[in-house]
Amino acid sequence: MARPLIADIDLDALRHNYAVARALAPQSRSMAVIKANAYGHGAVACAKALEAVAPAFAVASLEEAETLREAGIRHPILLLEGIFEVKELARVEALGLWQVVHSDWQFDAVMNYPAAQPLPVWLKLDSGMHRLGYDPESFVDRWSRLKAAHRRVRDLHLVSHFASADQSDTAQFEHQWRVIESIRQRLEAPLCIANSPATLAKPVTHGQWNRPGIMLYGSNPLESELPAGVSLKPVMTLRSRLIAVQSLQGGEPVGYGSRWHTSRPSRIGVVAAGYGDGYDRHAADGTPILVDGQRCPLVGRVSMDMLTVDISHLPEADIGSEAVLWGRGLSVDEVASHGDTIGYTLLTGLLPRVPRRYH
Ligand code: PLP
Repeated sequence: MARPLIADIDLDALRHNYAVARALAPQSRSMAVIKANAYGHGAVACAKALEAVAPAFAVASLEEAETLREAGIRHPILLLEGIFEVKELARVEALGLWQVVHSDWQFDAVMNYPAAQPLPVWLKLDSGMHRLGYDPESFVDRWSRLKAAHRRVRDLHLVSHFASADQSDTAQFEHQWRVIESIRQRLEAPLCIANSPATLAKPVTHGQWNRPGIMLYGSNPLESELPAGVSLKPVMTLRSRLIAVQSLQGGEPVGYGSRWHTSRPSRIGVVAAGYGDGYDRHAADGTPILVDGQRCPLVGRVSMDMLTVDISHLPEADIGSEAVLWGRGLSVDEVASHGDTIGYTLLTGLLPRVPRRYH
């Protein structure tokens, strides 16, 4: 039998979640963010599953866009960080990509590039996150110059990104939104602002375009519950099986470093999944795992290829029993909270050796 660890990818759930994003923002077009291999789910498969409904995709690099084009995806694809080298512009043009411009070297490259047709530009405003983009005054200046360069540039959009649209404390969000709104009014700029938290919880930010990512994969990025009436479905279910069961007396150590000891006679299941697959090595004792559909606590340190789970309360569980690490019945967000991390990290961190099986 092959190693039993598999990531089941439910493409209907992906389409459902995309439909949720669209229904939340009926006046906007929503580009599906499928960077980082569609947050670990497989960019080509996800793009193919969404191409009939999503008008565009967004990725982080030319290489990611090329992979999609090679697989036959013809939709517009936005490079969220734009080019990394001037010479990439020729490929951007040849592949018909959309690009963010966040810095003057990119601005100059576009202005000096002898394009056969004007290039679409998504100009990035730093509204307060201080990661990428122009400060408001420079933004207005570059916008005006791009606008005037009809032969070089077309379809200008204002792009910006929120640092904390997911948080219950809304002070930074409100500051960023005020900055964006004042520039939008001044320039009558079409907006592309909303990530998943803003798509879910900040309807005021919905623009001509939105850019939802994590919610498409069924993870809730908000600090709070999802808004009433919104339900997302997990797209990835990471499943494996017990490959051994240990019957131990009380007081016995389990795993590397003897982090955990049995407090009574216990049955410990060994699951074929570890940090060499992308499971979080920092997952704490008590992180839930579904064994035969029942919640059981992870115990002991996660190894590279295996982890251990206390199945003492499941007398029927044995070698071959199913172990779901996250997905249907066990949200990746809950699992992440036991490792002091977030669903984004677990999903994008799933390593290539885990086979993806599409449904
Ligand atoms: N836009 C940009 C610029 C991003 O960096 C990201 C993700 O990191 C997204 C949109 C999508 O964000 P989310 O996955 O929170 O929806």
